[in-house]
Amino acid sequence: MKTKPLFLVISAPSGCGKSTLIDMLLQEYHDIVYSISCTTRDVRGDEEDGIDYHFLKKERFEELIAEGAFLEYAQVHGNYYGTLRRPIEEVLAEGNSMILDIDVQGAAKVRQYIRNLPNTDPLKIGYVDIFINPPSMEALRERLEGRGTDSADVIERRLENAEGEMARAGEYMYQVTNDDLSHAFKRLCDLIDALSGRM
Ligand code: 5GP
Repeated sequence: MKTKPLFLVISAPSGCGKSTLIDMLLQEYHDIVYSISCTTRDVRGDEEDGIDYHFLKKERFEELIAEGAFLEYAQVHGNYYGTLRRPIEEVLAEGNSMILDIDVQGAAKVRQYIRNLPNTDPLKIGYVDIFINPPSMEALRERLEGRGTDSADVIERRLENAEGEMARAGEYMYQVTNDDLSHAFKRLCDLIDALSGRM
């Protein structure tokens, strides 16, 4: 069945299960491709170049900025992060969909970029953004504490960030609450099916 290629942007505060949900979507939909961001930060843990990120030298990143290669980019903690435009255009031209895992500031830049495109552009036609909410701030705190990966002050900072991000959830076309992983996944699938014309 031929479906409409989507340009999906997903944001969520840290600890909302966004990475898990995106992994589940990639397993479910083989025509959705994950957008690998570029960054100048160092490789962490078992991250791999070309899978988790394209790890670039600062000079190369700045060349790409000058060439206009980025759909959006930002500097976070002294490092550059950015989304390349070309892979998204290519994936959509092939009839597949692209999914971006990006924070609210990055999403706002993507939205601005989309706004300035002609109505006939496939990125504009396929554009959908979704914000994933935690069921509550208490639940988010429990999840962050339960992960056991962050210190108490890092958790406080993440919770403050989460509040700031959730205050901007209204900028998104859709919101899904991750109260239960399988329910949230079902809601995302229903949305994608409806928007891409799978049903
Ligand atoms: P980390 O270094 O922990 O992987 O990511 C740090 C921050 O950079 C996160 O908030 C993440 O959302 C953001 N980030 C990752 N990729 C991109 C990107 O392509 N563009 C922008 N604007 N931010 C990104």
